[in-house]
Amino acid sequence: MLLNIQELTVSYGGIRAVRDISFGIESGELVALIGPNGAGKSTILRAIVGLVPVEKGKILFEEKQINGQPTHMIVRNGIVLAPEGRQIFGRLSVTENLTLATFALKNTATFNEDVERVFELFPVLRERKNQQAGTLSGGEQQMLCIGRALIEKPKLLLLDEPSLGLAPLLIKEIFQIIKRLHTEGTTILLVEQNARIALKVADRGLIIESGNIVLEDSGKGLLSNPDIKKHYLGG
Ligand code: ATP
Repeated sequence: MLLNIQELTVSYGGIRAVRDISFGIESGELVALIGPNGAGKSTILRAIVGLVPVEKGKILFEEKQINGQPTHMIVRNGIVLAPEGRQIFGRLSVTENLTLATFALKNTATFNEDVERVFELFPVLRERKNQQAGTLSGGEQQMLCIGRALIEKPKLLLLDEPSLGLAPLLIKEIFQIIKRLHTEGTTILLVEQNARIALKVADRGLIIESGNIVLEDSGKGLLSNPDIKKHYLGG
């Protein structure tokens, strides 16, 4: 198992956001975390990369415990988060944002090839490579956010709400890329409000409510589950 989460509990100042959650991800899988606002999905991603402390439980990556390690070490070991809200540097150009992503890396020798691959996946970023990132459209910023994560060579890519605030056509485009990354072998853990589109690309989905996993099934299984249809897929 590439990632193995055992009885993970995370709290913010005494308030439990994630309660005793266990799940694993096999190499090559695309797993989606689905659930309402505030269910704890982003907190799970933040705990995996060490941005919030683990109160109880263990996170194993390639069989080794990573909770307790500093974030830059976790990134260097191959887990990269494309955060909710993108968090790119608005005053810097597209290329400068991609360059900054190499700071956590030990080996930057392949940077030019890696940027080439990002530009191949997202041709619009090549056209805008010298443009200030803050002036990109929402969709382009999301592409840059994913592109920046790819520069860090993830063995496990964590995507937090990639569809947030985007028009349907752009959501489709972003998800085509996510599907392609998956097909090409990247292991992905995806948090998404748009349950339908996420479950369509996911091998497996976990439904998270109030910090607990309440249901787990294949993407297909969840898409045809009457309860999920009613509560998450608009009937
Ligand atoms: P969303 O899609 O709205 O981000 P989510 O499922 O990702 O929802 P989390 O962001 O993980 O949910 O939040 C889980 C709970 O923890 C919520 O009740 C939230 O208010 C709380 N929480 C999140 N971050 C903090 C923080 N920095 N300080 C205090 N409470 C927090």
